[in-house]
Amino acid sequence: MTSYPSLSFITPHADSPWGTFLATLDSIAPHLGPLARFAETLRRPRRALIVDIPIEMDDGRIAHFEGYRVHHNLSRGPGKGGVRYDAGVTLEEVMALAGWMTIKNAAVNLPFGGAKGGIRVDPKGLSRKELERLTRRYTSEIGLLIGPDRDIPAPDVNTDAQIMAWMMDTCAMNTGTSATGMVTGKPVALGGSLGRQDATGRGVNVIGREVARRIGLHLAGARVVVQGVGNVGAVAARAFVENGARIVALQDRGASLFNPAGIDVAAALAHKQRTGSLAGCAGAEAIDREAFWSVESDVLIPAALEGSLTAERAARVRTRLVLEGANGPTTPAADLVLAERGITVVPDVIANAGGVIVSYFEWVQDFNSFFWTEDEVTRRMDSILTGAFDHIWRTATELGASLRTAAFVVACRRVLSAREQRGLYP
Ligand code: NAD
Repeated sequence: MTSYPSLSFITPHADSPWGTFLATLDSIAPHLGPLARFAETLRRPRRALIVDIPIEMDDGRIAHFEGYRVHHNLSRGPGKGGVRYDAGVTLEEVMALAGWMTIKNAAVNLPFGGAKGGIRVDPKGLSRKELERLTRRYTSEIGLLIGPDRDIPAPDVNTDAQIMAWMMDTCAMNTGTSATGMVTGKPVALGGSLGRQDATGRGVNVIGREVARRIGLHLAGARVVVQGVGNVGAVAARAFVENGARIVALQDRGASLFNPAGIDVAAALAHKQRTGSLAGCAGAEAIDREAFWSVESDVLIPAALEGSLTAERAARVRTRLVLEGANGPTTPAADLVLAERGITVVPDVIANAGGVIVSYFEWVQDFNSFFWTEDEVTRRMDSILTGAFDHIWRTATELGASLRTAAFVVACRRVLSAREQRGLYP
C-alpha cells in the first residue's frame, strides 16, 4: 500500500530543523520494537495552519505577515508549545519545533502533545501598538486550534509575558470567559506562575548538576561558555555562577565576550538591558564570532537559535559537556563529531524542559485557581526533571546509546504506546 509523502511541498535538507528532527527519528527506529508500526505518525504533523495577519501600521499603511500554528502530535494530551516571532520563521521550522515539543513533553512525562507557532516578523521593527495588533490578530486567526484542553501556547524567542497577556485577553474577548488557562508564561497578576520566567534556565542548571555528578565534573570552579543571553542563556549563566562556576565566554547576536577569569555576568546583563546588546561591555575582551566556539571550557551551553553548533564548530569546541539550552542547536553532523570526540551532549528535549514543566504547573494552578509559592514550583520542577533525567541516563546506559537517542526512545515509546492504546479513528 502506498503512503504519500507528508507536506510534500517541503523538502528538508539534512541540517534544516525538520531534517534534523526526521534524522533523529530515523536513528531511533531500531529501538521501537513492535511500536515501529506506528512510527510514521511522528514524521507527519497532525495539522498545520498558515494564517495571513493583516495589521494597520502606525503610519496608516496595511502590512501583511505570515503566521503558523502546528499540532505535531496530540496522542498524550492537548498541544503545548511556544510562539516565536522572528524574521527567519518558516512553516518547516515551526513543524520541527512542534515535533521537539512532542518529544520533550513525553520525555518528562507531561500530559501534553507537541505544538508550536510563530510569525515571520522582526518584532524590533514594530511599535508596541503594532506588536499588540499583530498578536491579537494572530491569536484570533489561530483561535480555531487553541484552548485550555486543545492547545496551550507559551512564550518562545522574542515573545514574553506581555505578548501572552494580549493573547489571553484576545481569547477572553472572543469567548466571554476569563481564559486564564489558554496560554502559559503570563504575568503573575493574570494567573501566571511564580518561577516561570526563570524555569528554563534553572532547568538547564539542574540538568548540568545531574550530569556533572555522574561524570565527575565539579561545577565549583568549572568554566562555562554560553551562546545567547536571553530568557534561557542569561538565567542559566547566573545559576552556574551561583554554583561557583566561571562564565568565560558569552555571545549574543551583537558580540562575543571572553574573560578567562570569569565575566561579571550581572554587569554584562545590565549592559545588555541598557543598550540592547553585549557589544561594548566593559570587563571582557571582545572576540571574533567564530573564535567564540574554540574557547576552552568544561560546559558549553548553546542557548540562542537552532543549527548554531555545526560540524565545523563541533570539531573545534574544547569542552566536556554540551547542554542544549536552545531547541535544536546541534546539527546531526555535529552530533556525530561530538560523539566521536567523546563529548557528552544533553539534548534540548531534557536540558531545556524546565520551562514547559513550569508551564504545566501554571496550567494546573489556573484550573484550580490556587497558586503555589516559588519555592514549591522550583522544588517540584527540580524533582520532575531529575527523575526524568535519571530514567533517560539509565536508558542510554542500557542501550549503549547517546542521551539524545535515549531521550527520543523513552519519549517515542510513550507517544506510540498511547497511539496504539487509543487505536486509529475511525
Ligand atoms: P530570547 O529571545 O530571550 O534570547 C535569544 C538570545 O539569543 C538573545 O540573547 C540573542 O541575542 C541570541 N541570539 C540570537 N541569534 C543569535 C546568533 N545568530 N548568534 C548569537 N546569539 C544569538 O530567546 P529564549 O527564550 O532565551 O530562547 C532561546 C532558545 O531556547 C530558543 O531555541 C528557544 O526555542 C529555546 N527555548 C526557550 C524556552 C523559554 O522558556 N524561553 C524554553 C525552551 C526552549
